[in-house]
Amino acid sequence: MPQVKPSVKLLEYTPNPERTVALAAKLCYSDATIENLQEGLDKSDIAKFIQRLRSFGHASPFEHANFTFGIEGVSRSLLAQITRHRIASFSVKSQRYVPANKGGDTFNYVIPEAIEAMGKDAVEKYKKQMATLHEWYTEWQTALGGACEKSNEDARFVLPNAAETKMVVTMNARSLMNFFNLRCCNRAQWEIRDVAWQMLKLVLEVAPAIFGNCGPACVSGACSEGKMTCGRPLEVREKQKALLAEVSKK
Ligand SMILES: Cc1cc2nc3c(=O)[nH]c(=O)nc-3n(C[C@H](O)[C@H](O)[C@H](O)COP(=O)(O)OP(=O)(O)OC[C@H]3O[C@@H](n4cnc5c(N)ncnc54)[C@H](O)[C@@H]3O)c2cc1C
Repeated sequence: MPQVKPSVKLLEYTPNPERTVALAAKLCYSDATIENLQEGLDKSDIAKFIQRLRSFGHASPFEHANFTFGIEGVSRSLLAQITRHRIASFSVKSQRYVPANKGGDTFNYVIPEAIEAMGKDAVEKYKKQMATLHEWYTEWQTALGGACEKSNEDARFVLPNAAETKMVVTMNARSLMNFFNLRCCNRAQWEIRDVAWQMLKLVLEVAPAIFGNCGPACVSGACSEGKMTCGRPLEVREKQKALLAEVSKK
């Protein structure tokens, strides 16, 4: 089945991310030794301290906590958008080393929900178009010398934005906050928005004090989108609240 859906896993993260951020911040305001600072940090302190830190915009301590995600079932269109986030590290499946027709199957692809919602005929038409592109890809790959790095790298030019990719992405907490602010917003494109909300859920599970107020601007204040606002801040706040409730039950 070549159709894929976005899936995100939190692979690794800085051990004790909240403690690490709080320690880095406390050090800025204290004359104590690092050992004494470590001993002086208790759990309730950490959550309060992180909240204060966020409220006055002291953002650099959040850079000490890193989170690594595995993202698959997403399109090359998503890849173009997510890699615009420069404060991040990416490793992406190669279209040169990995042929798109491995095992003779059609390449995997994403079907936009709006096309799925149009019904069976629209979906069949879309799948047929993908099958045609697959044929073109294989045709060029053969003409260019068969499945190898050299022919894959040119045959891929006929692949669509819908073609699946997968990646490992690492961001620190500060960069993630910016990412959630931009990409959980209803103004963001649906696929990256879906991935961003999945990522937010995963980090909330391990660092709620850091990410508790994260999401688009309207989650904690006014919408920042001006004339382009979706006009649905209450709906977005409810969505974020529901996510917090779901995560806190676990
Ligand atoms: C709804 C939406 C629509 C978009 N539409 C388009 C579009 O039509 N065309 C398009 O090209 N892009 C578009 N983008 C991408 C957008 O312009 C950003 O490139 C992308 O969101 C990455 O955000 P960022 O720069 O804040 O993140 P990062 O690259 O991770 O940077 C994080 C922060 O670091 C600082 N920073 C990083 N690099 C620099 C630098 N060189 N100079 C100064 N400060 C820096 C900034 O404060 C920045 O916010 C869109 C994004 C969204 C959310």
